[in-house]
Amino acid sequence: MTHPTATPTPRICPDCDGFATVAISTGGRDRHGHLPTLTIDCRSCNGQGTVPARRVREGARA
Ligand SMILES: [Zn+2]
Repeated sequence: MTHPTATPTPRICPDCDGFATVAISTGGRDRHGHLPTLTIDCRSCNGQGTVPARRVREGARA
């Protein structure tokens, strides 16, 4: 007898295409001459880059 696989295979997040974390420039330089960036995680996969194969509707992070 066959039984369903217990562990779903992670898939690449369709929203960020695997690039779960992006750095966004704030546009200006600080007093050290550096370009500050904000690190933003993908909201669909919470920065993991993958989503479970099974559709799970989770509430967004507050
Ligand atoms: Zn994502």
